[in-house]
Amino acid sequence: MVSPHMKDLGTARSVIRELFEYGKARAAEIGAENVFDFSIGNPSVPAPAAVNETAVRLLTQQPDSIHAYTSAQGAPDARQRFAEALNRRFGTDYTADRFYLTVGAAASLCCVFKGLTCPGDEFVVFAPYFPEYKVFIEGAGAKMTPIPPEVEGFQIDFDAFEQALNEHTKGVVINTPNNPSGVVYSRATLERLANVLTEKSKQYGHPIYLISDEPYREIVYTGVEVPWVPHIYHDTIICYSFSKSLSLPGERIGYVLVPESVTDAADVYASVAGAGRSLGYVNAPSLFQQVTSLCCDLTSDIKIYEENRNLFVSALRDMGYHVVEPGGAFYLFPRSLEPDDLAFSERAKKFDLLMAPGTGFGAPGHVRISYCVQTDTIRRSLPKFKALADTYK
Ligand code: PLP
Repeated sequence: MVSPHMKDLGTARSVIRELFEYGKARAAEIGAENVFDFSIGNPSVPAPAAVNETAVRLLTQQPDSIHAYTSAQGAPDARQRFAEALNRRFGTDYTADRFYLTVGAAASLCCVFKGLTCPGDEFVVFAPYFPEYKVFIEGAGAKMTPIPPEVEGFQIDFDAFEQALNEHTKGVVINTPNNPSGVVYSRATLERLANVLTEKSKQYGHPIYLISDEPYREIVYTGVEVPWVPHIYHDTIICYSFSKSLSLPGERIGYVLVPESVTDAADVYASVAGAGRSLGYVNAPSLFQQVTSLCCDLTSDIKIYEENRNLFVSALRDMGYHVVEPGGAFYLFPRSLEPDDLAFSERAKKFDLLMAPGTGFGAPGHVRISYCVQTDTIRRSLPKFKALADTYK
């Protein structure tokens, strides 16, 4: 006998994974250049040269110690560098002992949900949201409460949000720049969110934590501001990752930051560390603790993502697609040309266009396009998008 829930998770159909596998099979049939796979978010620009140089240098200069265990929460020098980098950038006074290094944002989120959850707790998420939130939140023993999307701009539907809050709300998750919409929450949105959370925390007599999942923090385009959330709401816990900003998704490295301003910060940090211990997530990869902390002021060259966004948004709009302009990340989330996004995604496959249905992100009637691909792939895909749109005329 095995855990039925875990077995379900291990075998459940992921539409995105299926599309990705379908794309690979189709590429073997008709050639990779004829399949337009926009299904998955693997960064398409390489890590900055300094990342590989630093890795090689560390492997050469410290061949033994670089592979050794570090403290469970991460090496003190690496945590110190992360703290100093944020302090330089945001004028904060973070210290190393509030960072817990993890195997990416996924593990950061799992540690935070598990560390915070008491029986009966709920976490609010805003659609469209990263589908794994449900797995992580339920895995921690809490309930996920989704808020329907605000489809005009993918900011927040505050009426729906306020109605969803109750005395069981332990936390609220935001992800800006967002996967799958690419939208960045405006300062006004964040300030209004902070006001609601402050008022409701007072009303319910306990803090409502804001969990800021920000693997795309650095992937933001000309003229768009990504405010530093803890400056706006003091009970913010940061879940960060270098998967996207340094194009290192396979190296599995990120951190949780519990700023001192968080209510009961020492307890929250201890609970995050305890959750990491209970999940077996201690000691994030040693080599990449060092590499990322020595390179954390760098970002992969994101010019190509901006170029891709500009090309895609204007071409799709010209063809009649409705799409909210993303300010960052590398995703577009246009409306599907029929209400049933699963049917639309299936029809797109006939044109070898692979797009993830919005239903999986809690926002039916949309599809996600990952444009972290070569610009030429987008250019060559445009006649296919046109042909797809024509089938609806
Ligand atoms: N959160 C969001 C919104 C993501 O898009 C992803 C990955 O795509 C993650 C978390 C997990 O990132 P990581 O690779 O750092 O675990």
